[in-house]
Amino acid sequence: MARLGSQADATAVLREVFGHPRFRPGQRDAVKAAVAGRDVVVLLPTGRGKSLCYQIPAMVARRRGRGTAVVVSPLIALMDDQVSQLHGKGVKAAALHSHRTPEQRIDTIEAFEAGALDLLYVSPERAATEEFRQRLEAGDVSMLAIDEAHCISQWGHDFRPDYMRLGELRGRLEVPIVALTATATPRTLAEVVDRLRLHEPDRITASFARKNLAFVVRCFEPEHDRVHALRHELDRLKLRDGPLGGRAIVYCATRDAVDAVTHRLRAEGYPVAGYHAGRDAKARDRAQRAFETNKARVLVATSAFGMGVDLPDVRVVVHLQSPGSPEAYYQEAGRAGRDGKAARCVLYFGDEDIRIQRHLAGSSEALSALEHYAQSDSVCRQQALCEYLEGEAGEDLCGRCDVCKPSLRRAPAPKRRKPLTKADRKIVIRALRRLGRPVLIEALSRALRGWEVKRLSKADLLTLPELGALQRHDDTAVVEALDDLALEGLVRRRMGRRGPTVALAGVDDDELSLRDRALPPPTSGSTSIAPELDRACRAKARQLDVRPSALMARRTLVGIDRARPTTLDELRRVPGMRESTVQAMGEELLALVERYALSRVRGP
Ligand code: ADP
Ligand code: ZN
Repeated sequence: MARLGSQADATAVLREVFGHPRFRPGQRDAVKAAVAGRDVVVLLPTGRGKSLCYQIPAMVARRRGRGTAVVVSPLIALMDDQVSQLHGKGVKAAALHSHRTPEQRIDTIEAFEAGALDLLYVSPERAATEEFRQRLEAGDVSMLAIDEAHCISQWGHDFRPDYMRLGELRGRLEVPIVALTATATPRTLAEVVDRLRLHEPDRITASFARKNLAFVVRCFEPEHDRVHALRHELDRLKLRDGPLGGRAIVYCATRDAVDAVTHRLRAEGYPVAGYHAGRDAKARDRAQRAFETNKARVLVATSAFGMGVDLPDVRVVVHLQSPGSPEAYYQEAGRAGRDGKAARCVLYFGDEDIRIQRHLAGSSEALSALEHYAQSDSVCRQQALCEYLEGEAGEDLCGRCDVCKPSLRRAPAPKRRKPLTKADRKIVIRALRRLGRPVLIEALSRALRGWEVKRLSKADLLTLPELGALQRHDDTAVVEALDDLALEGLVRRRMGRRGPTVALAGVDDDELSLRDRALPPPTSGSTSIAPELDRACRAKARQLDVRPSALMARRTLVGIDRARPTTLDELRRVPGMRESTVQAMGEELLALVERYALSRVRGP
């Protein structure tokens, strides 16, 4: 492919357009390869300046009279940020995505077609449309940049189906491609190269080691109280009532856990906000703003929070529940200490995490790798993570982690007073199943402990066979057991009008297997099972914190209904069915099909 310009041009652009005296490690080589017209994969940790790796070649090409650089980016907020920053530097950039009005989109397309744009940012969805591709072919494109390129990996934690189709652009545009990511194992990187059809790309990496972060792992038995341990972590930073300065991010694996932990911390007086994709855009914005403006100094979130967020003074990132892979862990933990000052990254880990993550159905290999990381106490944490992410461990021990400094390892959190036994937990679940609707936590706890019967009559709790079954426990123990069940995704907590409520979680919990539950009656007059498939799909999506359409399109759902597959292979043959979805919920879908097929034969 043709050169875009020279390295001297690149240095000039770095200084004149971006105002930096010199390249950072990694940048120089990435830019050099791209301006020479070669493909490049750039693997640099967040904050090291990946954007310049394509923005400089783009401007070099422009100075030599070439066309527009097209940048595929997965996050609208990120695109808009970049575009406005570039405008500030006099660069002609624009973005095409679903939040633009039709007029704005037409303006942008016209500007592109007139050759007036230096950079054009697009969402992967748009890049996948045939119409847009034809426009690219007809227009003048100098190069292609694929940001967050790991989203192409089906097994990665940020899989975006539309990324899979970006490889098709290669055949249609004779331009160099720069693929960038902050998170990819050697294997994911190989997948990126393969799927984007990169041609013998230069590979640019820099060490992932972060000199100011102390990685710590704390192992928990099920009866240990993680939130109690979390409070200690937060209190070290005086986040409840100390002077301003410093923030904490607490990651949980599920939305229900986020709600439960937020609730508990708030009740104890921490300035806290909760963030997950189950809340509407307004609520998410409010949470993020509260955190950014220091109104909330603790943010409890699922992995939905963080891409594109760059706060300097996060002093600790606690994973109260484990993520599904070392990549996801490093990415999220790496949001600590962006200002270069000391910060802690603490991973809470126990058997429950393995169970929850299996349930969330990520890659089992990545999960084993994380388990290995958490459970080994002989390899420096920083080295272990770098080895996984870069394929080689740095030579130096970090001297800060809990392996290098065993004094950081503290006694496990105290056991709680008389926690509920397994049998007790079953009693709670049975009562909730019988109620079949949300109930005030306070009322449920009272009923189960056989208290204040009068006030319960309204809530038809008095007819519960479980009334008084947990007499020997106190309220705290019952509430904590409900917290646990919420953390495990078995029950759902919501804020009701009169206080927090609980209800049994949807079709997706594992303590009640599909068989244990009563068969819902088949929809009368219709034999379609699409509504049931849809419900299962939504429940799974909620659990994975993705949009239902990321699991399957409506027409695939209808396809399953039509095909009524009985084996995984038949399921795979349903048009539009994705392998990741088969892995995530294939068995569940087959069980559904089978159940409804049977109930139809037997009749209602
Ligand atoms: P990434 O995409 O890798 O997270 P960015 O591209 O957003 O990182 O850059 C992070 C910060 O580093 C930005 O504020 C940018 O201005 C700055 N930066 C990038 N390259 C250089 C450089 N060569 N010299 C000084 N600062 C730089
Ligand atoms: Zn270490």
